[in-house]
Amino acid sequence: MTSYIPYGRQDINQQDIDAVVEVLHSEWLTQGRAIDLFEQAVADYCGVKYAIAVSSATAALHIACLSIGLGRQDYLWTSPNTFVASANCGLYCGAKIDFVDIDPDTYNLSIDELTHKLHRADQQGCLPKVLVPVQFAGQSCEMDKIAALSQKYGFQVIEDASHAIGGRYQGKAIGCCEFSDLAVFSFHPVKIITTGEGGMVLTNRQDLYEKLIRLRSHGITRNSDLMQGESHGAWYYQQLELGFNYRMTDIQAALGISQMNRLDEFIAKRQFLAQRYNHLLKDFPITLPYQHPDTESSWHLYVICLHLDKISKSHRQVFEGLRQVGIGVNLHYIPVHTQPYYQNIGFKWGDFPKSETYYDSAISIPLYYGLSKENQNRVVDNLRKILT
Ligand SMILES: *Cc1c(COP(=O)(O)O)cnc(C)c1O
Repeated sequence: MTSYIPYGRQDINQQDIDAVVEVLHSEWLTQGRAIDLFEQAVADYCGVKYAIAVSSATAALHIACLSIGLGRQDYLWTSPNTFVASANCGLYCGAKIDFVDIDPDTYNLSIDELTHKLHRADQQGCLPKVLVPVQFAGQSCEMDKIAALSQKYGFQVIEDASHAIGGRYQGKAIGCCEFSDLAVFSFHPVKIITTGEGGMVLTNRQDLYEKLIRLRSHGITRNSDLMQGESHGAWYYQQLELGFNYRMTDIQAALGISQMNRLDEFIAKRQFLAQRYNHLLKDFPITLPYQHPDTESSWHLYVICLHLDKISKSHRQVFEGLRQVGIGVNLHYIPVHTQPYYQNIGFKWGDFPKSETYYDSAISIPLYYGLSKENQNRVVDNLRKILT
């Protein structure tokens, strides 16, 4: 029996392990130096002023929304082709959610759809307070156009860049926040780099940074300049707002620092494997991942769409057939508006048809740093067999 090939997985080397062990021998397992160093490493890499490490990208999205004051009367718009967390963060704040259907080429939210929807919302007086563009599979949205629309209509932009650390847009690192107010990364093991669980919020805005720092840790400050009245003494702190414990541990941050040293190598390998797939799959009855010329993807995912009119099997048969021979395919994503929870708050099948059509034929095939050529060939050979 040949081994199972997952769709994605982490890569941990001895240097990563040594970095974690060093923290375990140290004084500080949390709230120590490793957090600052990890934040600095990511901020430097991305060319952004501030970076705040947290316990997950979900936590990062939540406090990003709170930092811009998202609340009950407000709308958050995002793509239906994403993980539920990109929309749930708005619900955590009591806001209302709506979606912008996708571009059938990039599978990112469509700028045309966004433009039309904003125009209508403006006339009806229900413009969103925040847009969460998702950098799907590691490929940036057209951020220059999103930034221009945010200027025109006055909404804030939080990039869900969970897939995209190491990717670039117009030559600049995703996460630089040149076209957005905030950006969020995930360090879940299936993403580009990992800290086990973990996430980060990035911004160039000092006002947001100061809020984010407090929201990560119960809304508490020890800075007497920010306090109401006088400090009572060296022990004193004040809770200024309702925050959380969304802190990352130093054990995780040490792993993150070590993984950041390997980031460029991770991206280069993913790019190499993606190009190899492009070549090996070019005559298959499938659509290969389109890349917009302004973007350099981090290649978190390699998504193919089946030409179901040219093959004799159904989408489900191809998917389950690959799983049966040990190829760990996946499907990114079930359109969020079709989830029962979202149906219960008023969405229905048919609301965002392009994301649903995409869902009917998409399959993510294995792509990760440690994928060998032999195993990649096995994916290709089995796909060929199943499609013919
Ligand atoms: C993984 C992911 C998240 C959530 O990340 P966690 O770190 O697991 O909370 C959010 N959005 C997208 C698009 C993701 O892929």
